[in-house]
Amino acid sequence: MHIETKLVRAGVGKDPQTGAVSTPIYQVATFAHPKLGESTGYDYSRTANPTRTALEEVAACLERGSTAAAFASGMAAVTAVLHLFAPGDHLIVTEDLYGGTYRVLREVLNVYGVQASFVDTSDLKAIETAIQSETKGIFIETPTNPLMKISDIPGVVGLAQAHGLLTIVDNTFMTPYLQRPLELGADIVIHSASKYLGGHNDVIAGLVVTKDEELGERIRFIQNATGAILGPQDSWLLLRGLKTLALRVERQQYNAQVIAEWLCKQPQIEAVYYPGLANHEGYEVNRKQASGAGGMLSFTVKEEKLVPYLLENLKLVTFAESLGGVESLITFPARQTHADIPEEIRKQLGISDRLLRLSVGIENVDDILADIKEALHAYSYC
Ligand SMILES: *Cc1c(COP(=O)(O)O)cnc(C)c1O
Repeated sequence: MHIETKLVRAGVGKDPQTGAVSTPIYQVATFAHPKLGESTGYDYSRTANPTRTALEEVAACLERGSTAAAFASGMAAVTAVLHLFAPGDHLIVTEDLYGGTYRVLREVLNVYGVQASFVDTSDLKAIETAIQSETKGIFIETPTNPLMKISDIPGVVGLAQAHGLLTIVDNTFMTPYLQRPLELGADIVIHSASKYLGGHNDVIAGLVVTKDEELGERIRFIQNATGAILGPQDSWLLLRGLKTLALRVERQQYNAQVIAEWLCKQPQIEAVYYPGLANHEGYEVNRKQASGAGGMLSFTVKEEKLVPYLLENLKLVTFAESLGGVESLITFPARQTHADIPEEIRKQLGISDRLLRLSVGIENVDDILADIKEALHAYSYC
């Protein structure tokens, strides 16, 4: 079955008793036992809930994994995966990744003795150089956030396997519609499902999918032990969002390509970072491992004053954090998503005060372009 079909069938037919086409929201905490030592398969909703199970089955199927777990947020999913590691363990992590992942590694899990080196994982040599005897895993985002750098997933997997390390991929930006890291050899996929999978800026959720069943059981054990589960209502919202993922992503990446090409030609714009541009450093690698370039792009403007001007004067494109929803959003990484990264490191990474990130929505692209055009035009007269 093709992925578009699997998406539409998400959660269909889970209630044979009534034939309900949409998975019901099982708003229930506990389940009656038929007999001593017997269970319906559900005992208590922290451990498992039927609405959440329907979502987890779909997630495992989409990412071609064996096991999935749905979490209260993307960060709860990231944290559960990081709980696989013990004091003294060392991780190699993409240097310009989601600011929250940086924060939990540097300011929460550091006290438990999990060490991390932040490296440019688009450079396989840099990864190899960073491997130490205590290294247990490589955690990547590709494309990265916000600079859209591409890491070679099979290349990273090769290095990880040669050294007995786990490969973990945060696949939030690409979604399983465009990229399936487990098929490329990775061990664990993480999602902030608050973004493309939910797709409507109305739910916070996270997913972890593993290739190996035993590893999946360990994740489920950690989730049941620590408790950051996704509730039944939010599981349902995610099931509903997933149905249109293919259509949304197709339109988003079409729009993103048009906007990226247009931005390249504007005199006020210094650089455009979008893996769908042939001159993007990771263009070829991305093309090999993903079936598209996605709906995220970043750009730097020449004059710093243009940043607040754009944020205040765009009318259609909303100035807000987050990404992946049907509405186009613009974000200022240095002050929002990446504010927890020290300024010096941010500068080094290229997350400058002239960098903006665009999450392209499903609007008519001409309206998005008209909005940006108008703001740029007005700026040149003030
Ligand atoms: C948003 C995001 C997260 C965190 O997810 P939440 O659902 O906000 O907790 C993690 N990784 C990436 C790439 C993200 O964009």
